[in-house]
Amino acid sequence: MTAPLLSVKNLKKYFPVRKGVLSRVVAQVKAVDDMSFDLAPGETLGLVGESGCGKTTAGRSILRLIEPTSGEVTFDDKPVTGVGSTELRRLRREMQIIFQDPYASLNPRMSVADIVGEGLKVHGIAKGRKDLEERVAALLEKVRLDPAYVNRYPHEFSGGQRQRIGIARALSLDPKFIVCDEAVSALDVSIQAQIINLLMDLRDELGLSYLFVAHDLSVVQHISHRVAVMYLGRIVEIANTTTVFEAPKHPYTKSLLSAVPRADPEAKIDRVILSGDVPSPMNPPPGCTFHTRCPVAFDLCKVEEPPMRDMGDGHEYRCHLEPADAPGI
Ligand code: SF4
Repeated sequence: MTAPLLSVKNLKKYFPVRKGVLSRVVAQVKAVDDMSFDLAPGETLGLVGESGCGKTTAGRSILRLIEPTSGEVTFDDKPVTGVGSTELRRLRREMQIIFQDPYASLNPRMSVADIVGEGLKVHGIAKGRKDLEERVAALLEKVRLDPAYVNRYPHEFSGGQRQRIGIARALSLDPKFIVCDEAVSALDVSIQAQIINLLMDLRDELGLSYLFVAHDLSVVQHISHRVAVMYLGRIVEIANTTTVFEAPKHPYTKSLLSAVPRADPEAKIDRVILSGDVPSPMNPPPGCTFHTRCPVAFDLCKVEEPPMRDMGDGHEYRCHLEPADAPGI
């Protein structure tokens, strides 16, 4: 088996809730709770779940854009957690992020040349002005933007073009790993497809690995080799993409899948309608945190946390139901 490029072990991110004049900690919001997975070089892992399930916090904790509460992250055999700011700065060159909102993530006062070239200047990569201009032009060509636009400002571009600028910025330091944080969620469907195809081409050309965070399962299907489904801060199912879409085991994964529109109107779909809202991560239900909404919950689910069941071949799901009682869809 190939050595993982990224290894995440028991990652937790709890946000303290403070109250009163003494600002006492009265509760913890468990945004990410005991997350573990590996990512191989060139691999894309889709991380999906409803809004507020902790997937964005997970991506940012892995990069240490926010400090994890505990757990270990290793990148290319080097620790990410626990290292000082100098080493972290060096690691950040190889670990980048593409943000969700191409309207908010680009400084409106900076030209495209400054946005894309900033990292090259800060890290001393560009050797002089001409080299910087050539590198920026090459990056714009890579994301299929005309280098002639280099002196324009973000407001002069469409949403899709702005996201291409964000991708060029992420690529400027020649990374190996990119967190795509809802990178296409703010775009029209036709533009989403173009950006996903661009990300796949870049992955193949540059050997990149992605953690592709999205709330929409149909978006991750095309680009991901494996998919991890999150609920209330925890991964509840992880498997290769075909297994997740054709033979999921966890009731939550099945409910998410049943909401995905199918191209074939004749296809028989057993809709799984979830009742209620996602519970607060400040006060998660005991036992299986999904039991308040699970259509097949039984008594044990209310009191005992379910184990992660290993189906082999990298397929794991967190549920009290035995594999024989949890048939695929
Ligand atoms: Fe549903 Fe129980 Fe499985 Fe949780 S453990 S997903 S409540 S059946």
